[in-house]
Amino acid sequence: MTDEDFAASIQGQCLIVMDIGGTRIRIASIEVSEKEVPYAFEEYSSNLLQETDPIEILRGLLNQYTERNGIHPAAVIIGVPAIIDEDKDYIIQCNNITSLNGRKIASELRVKIGIPVYVDHDTKLLLHGEKAGKTLEDNWVLLGIFFGTGIGADVLLHDKACRLYRNGLELGHIPFRLNGKKCVCGRHGCAEAYVNGRVLEEISEDAHIHISKVFQLWGEDSIAGKRLKEFVDNEALLVTTAITIIEPTHVIIGGGIAAMECYPKGYLEEFVKRQACTTSINENCIISWAERGDMAGFHGGVSIFKERAATEKKI
Ligand SMILES: [Zn+2]
Repeated sequence: MTDEDFAASIQGQCLIVMDIGGTRIRIASIEVSEKEVPYAFEEYSSNLLQETDPIEILRGLLNQYTERNGIHPAAVIIGVPAIIDEDKDYIIQCNNITSLNGRKIASELRVKIGIPVYVDHDTKLLLHGEKAGKTLEDNWVLLGIFFGTGIGADVLLHDKACRLYRNGLELGHIPFRLNGKKCVCGRHGCAEAYVNGRVLEEISEDAHIHISKVFQLWGEDSIAGKRLKEFVDNEALLVTTAITIIEPTHVIIGGGIAAMECYPKGYLEEFVKRQACTTSINENCIISWAERGDMAGFHGGVSIFKERAATEKKI
């Protein structure tokens, strides 16, 4: 089958995209077409997967979803915040949903529901989804960094995910401090031990303000104000580190934290430009902010489907 025949064969196919985050599982349907618009949204707590067999829970959610919405999908695409093996099946380590560790999520679920299941890093879906809304010049290298429950990052190199062996970009586990705080991965002093959703929850609880409004305290000469500055400084240092290592032409910063009310985007951007973009290597690096929010993962799911289904057809 030629590439053109393959592209024609998948037009109009309905996909279910499941974006499993550290806090929420979000599900939507999307059809492969020129103008891809996600629909039939549902949302569940990720804690559901911790209660019992997570594959059985996913099967149940998908069955209910397809029946309720009258959808007959050609495939299911799942984004997970985990380290996955090179076959994109076996979950090596999922720090925020430990019940998934050691499970062959794609093949086990495929047996249960009878249609192809494609699994990939949640951040790869997000980055593909954000990229789909942009026009980049030739030879681009796109770095995406997403601040949410944890830290997600990935790199697209001319439309292909940049991979060494099995991992995405485990930016959250870059060593940040000597003998530092314990991280969800079990080590001490990782960046994610200092930059995660739980840290923001602690700041908001101590300041008696709802977490959704915590950045209203940005710039205040108070304990909360100082803790928020330290938090964003740590985020900015991490973005700077990633730019220094990857040397991208474009950076997209996103995730639930960056989308919060009063989040100091301008401050972070200035910090990063001052620290990382003043050398001859990175001075032309373009920094932008995620625009598609929660929708990005669903659009990215279509890109993953095209990539993986095409590979299967050629085997
Ligand atoms: Zn870590």
